[in-house]
Amino acid sequence: MVQSNFHTHCGLDDGSGAMEEYVLRALSLGFNTLGFSCHTPCSLDDDWHMKKSDLDYYLSEIHRLQDVYSDRIEIHSGLELDYLEDTKELVGIEYCGMVDYTIASLHLMRHKTSGTYLSVDGPITEFETLLADNFHGDAQAYVAAYFQMEEELIQRHQFDLLGHCDLIKKRNTENKYFNPQEPWYQHLASHMLKTAKKQKVRIEVNTGGIARGAITETYPSMEMIRECADLGIALTLSSDAHQSTHLDFYFAQATDLLIQAGYRTLDTLRHGLWQAAPIK
Ligand SMILES: [Zn+2]
Ligand SMILES: [Zn+2]
Repeated sequence: MVQSNFHTHCGLDDGSGAMEEYVLRALSLGFNTLGFSCHTPCSLDDDWHMKKSDLDYYLSEIHRLQDVYSDRIEIHSGLELDYLEDTKELVGIEYCGMVDYTIASLHLMRHKTSGTYLSVDGPITEFETLLADNFHGDAQAYVAAYFQMEEELIQRHQFDLLGHCDLIKKRNTENKYFNPQEPWYQHLASHMLKTAKKQKVRIEVNTGGIARGAITETYPSMEMIRECADLGIALTLSSDAHQSTHLDFYFAQATDLLIQAGYRTLDTLRHGLWQAAPIK
């Protein structure tokens, strides 16, 4: 079994619980590695990014936990950074020297009418407002813009993991807006993966959408995981845990899917280096 998770939140951002809870849970699961990846502090006016005033505590608490548990588990500091399509910036990149690794994620698009950022994975009203006002209801254009922005992110920035790379499907329950099986969708997803391969991007298989009851499959989909295998893209497995009980959510099933897709190793950060480790 995979014994690590690099995508975790906590009570300092939109997760819940103390960081030590996550360490104790990881130990009880037999993990040998755990990474914290709070949403980076930023100037966006929302309630899910970590406050800048909490950053020092976040880093010092990770260092304390590293010391206390050093003989039992390797603990890493990370941050989840947002890509903004209009300024092309990876928000929080100025903190990346303070942490062991970064996850780059695309959650937000600029709402053309109001000028504010809305999330594609947050409240359904935000997803629908973007669809209606930015794309005149054209879901295909919406999805195309999402994957296009991800390609820009990949081409412009350096980071360690690409987060939940088909997040645009999160609010597409029962294919209400688009059908990911259709050729146009598969072409867009495939194009993005080929760009990721070219840029040597490591992609996470993320079970968080299932853990939170939003979707019934991983990010990315099994079709995309198969293509990652064909392209030879390195993967990690994470749960995007927002509570400590979700630290290994759906890991057994996802591991089986990855083996079915042809994976025998997953990447893990050990002793300061990303390296392939046996999947099981
Ligand atoms: Zn995210
Ligand atoms: Zn996350």
